[in-house]
Amino acid sequence: CASTNELYDFTFKVMLLGDSGVGKTCFLVRFKDGAFLAGSFIATVGIDFRNKVVTVDSVKVKLQIWDTAGQERFRSVTHAYYRDAQALLLLYDITSKSSFDNIRAWLTEIHEYAQQDVVIMLLGNKSDMNSERVIKREEGEKLAREYGVPFMETSAKTGVNVELAFLAVAKELKHRAVQQPNEPKFHIHDYIESQKKKTSCCGFI
Ligand code: GDP
Ligand code: MG
Repeated sequence: CASTNELYDFTFKVMLLGDSGVGKTCFLVRFKDGAFLAGSFIATVGIDFRNKVVTVDSVKVKLQIWDTAGQERFRSVTHAYYRDAQALLLLYDITSKSSFDNIRAWLTEIHEYAQQDVVIMLLGNKSDMNSERVIKREEGEKLAREYGVPFMETSAKTGVNVELAFLAVAKELKHRAVQQPNEPKFHIHDYIESQKKKTSCCGFI
């Protein structure tokens, strides 16, 4: 299918979830615009979704990325939102214990209402704030392992692993859509492990 100025072969809906303040809007803006807008300004902007076309294995994939501004309290997120999302990026803030503790509740909610085969990724955001860290990387890894979902630490501020999160999701969804019998199977966990930056702070990109 074709839009006015960009050609793409697939469109996938991706949703950003997680407690208020974990950095969802900044994460989206970083990916879409390559910028970091600090402070409260961003909270008042209120974005429903933004489109971005990425190329995976020479196939153009349009990601329609939904932000959940104002609906972060998981109980109040409309379940209709989950139903047609192909991927969910679930964020916590490595400097906020409550945002990490709430991940289990988010996952319970997701498993109840999302599509069975939805791609879920757990992201520990604000990895640039290492000195204020209260959640160890290992704790994030352990939780992700328990639920069988890929994990990495990210920073909307520096850009670390932000693009990778979306690319991994795009690749996984594209491979599912056009898996050729003779093509090697794509493993999102392996891909992320091979690509992710493990340093807590990589400076500004
Ligand atoms: P949301 O409520 O989940 O959409 O969170 P926001 O995107 O509005 O971000 C909440 C606050 O965290 C803002 O003050 C952002 O500037 C800040 N923030 C977001 N991501 C990062 C990050 O990766 N690093 C740092 N240091 N601050 C961040
Ligand atoms: Mg927001």
